[in-house]
Amino acid sequence: MALKIYNTMSRKKEAFKPLKPKEVRIYTCGQTVYDDLHVGNARTYSNWDVIVRYLRWRGYDVFHVQNFTDVGHLTDDADEGEDKIEKRARLRRIEPMELVDQQIRKYWRDIDELNIHRPNISPRATGHIIEMQDLIKVLLEKGYAYIVEGNVYFDTSKFKNYGKLARLSLKDLKAGARVEVDPRKKHPRDFALWLKAPPNHIMKWTSPWSVGYPGWHIECSVMAMKYLGETLDIHGGGIDHIPVHHTNEIAQSEAATGKPFAKYWIHSAFMTINGEKMSKSKGNFITAREAIDKWGAMVVRLALVSGHYRSQIDYNEGLLITAKNNLEKLHNTLDAIKNASYGRDNSLLAKAKATKKAFIEAMDDDFNTPKALAAIYAFVKDVNKSIGKASKKSLETARDLIIELMGVLGIDLTRKSELKDLSDDLIKLLIKVREAARKKKDYETSDTIRNELKKLGIALEDTDSGTKYKIINTQ
Ligand code: AMP
Ligand code: ZN
Repeated sequence: MALKIYNTMSRKKEAFKPLKPKEVRIYTCGQTVYDDLHVGNARTYSNWDVIVRYLRWRGYDVFHVQNFTDVGHLTDDADEGEDKIEKRARLRRIEPMELVDQQIRKYWRDIDELNIHRPNISPRATGHIIEMQDLIKVLLEKGYAYIVEGNVYFDTSKFKNYGKLARLSLKDLKAGARVEVDPRKKHPRDFALWLKAPPNHIMKWTSPWSVGYPGWHIECSVMAMKYLGETLDIHGGGIDHIPVHHTNEIAQSEAATGKPFAKYWIHSAFMTINGEKMSKSKGNFITAREAIDKWGAMVVRLALVSGHYRSQIDYNEGLLITAKNNLEKLHNTLDAIKNASYGRDNSLLAKAKATKKAFIEAMDDDFNTPKALAAIYAFVKDVNKSIGKASKKSLETARDLIIELMGVLGIDLTRKSELKDLSDDLIKLLIKVREAARKKKDYETSDTIRNELKKLGIALEDTDSGTKYKIINTQ
């Protein structure tokens, strides 16, 4: 059995052979940290987490780098528009780096709760400006870049096979960007490596070309090569990155080194909402925090990995309800195992072995999580049927296997109950106690409950249909 990965570059499933046997060096494009993590982003990061966990489980030594973009990502892909971080910071009247720090703190809270392993390194773009300038210098020396009015552009006509990842046609290249092309560019698809900052721009650095800031694409090339070497085993990102961001990462990295930038290119499909891509810029998103608060982190996580990473999934109640039911079934079976009386039947042992094999087969086939989950759910049914008959050893094996395999997918079944469910129950209990106190005209107690909850960031609101609570931001 061999692991196969769908390589966007070849549009085929290929046998996975890392550069060094049993070692995997992987880079995935990270968050532009100007807004909260939404469930679409969380889906993509859950997908990478499943891949990293699975590779480790299969004995690979995995080194994973995922950046934070804290400068240079403009509101438009064609080098027009404003820096997303700077724009949001201005609206919120805070420093760009204060916004970045706030967002990163929130980001880790969500990521940790969703049981997404933190990468080995999470480099920030602003910490690598010198390295970016060094790479731009190499591109200028080699004739792949040109300077116009303090901006530096990559000359796409000089790079053979520009657009090979996205299979861009000559027509695509000529038509170039959607917006009117910047007259300073020699060719429509040329892209900025360095941009001169307008006078009121906050995030800017000195450089040989101008006081300015780096382009978004150069960040990832630099951070990937700095920590992982000139050729990576795997490079991942959302499918939105294929035509521009990854296309440009390849051009500038390969032009500089003369080596392939990555062996395998993997892309995660979108999460949609009402059939449309969920995105921060469109504003049609559900934050990971809202979803976690409503459903519990493990339910959300199970929903996110229930579809194959290359298939689009739509965020809706049905998706979450199915995940909730499946998670409940898993917990019910684990409880049944705990409370079972033992028999002598050992037939579950062979079934456990077959389940592990089916799980590996599914995951080896380009990380087919729905098929892997189906194998686990089928096994759970067998376990349910065997309760009362199965031996102690076979039930313990079954329990360990279910926990282990779900763990590879990032679902931690040992988390007793979702913290969210518990706190929801407790708050509702306090609301009942407060109502009872009010009925007895014990306003001192009822006010204490309200005020103490408020200190914890929970606001009570008395409405016609009873008392409701909402979580308020205490930051
Ligand atoms: P951003 O911060 O918008 O650059 O996105 C961070 C990561 O999330 C990138 O890898 C995107 O491709 C990915 N992403 C953004 N929107 C979605 C979505 N609706 N579904 C899945 N992945 C997404
Ligand atoms: Zn990137």
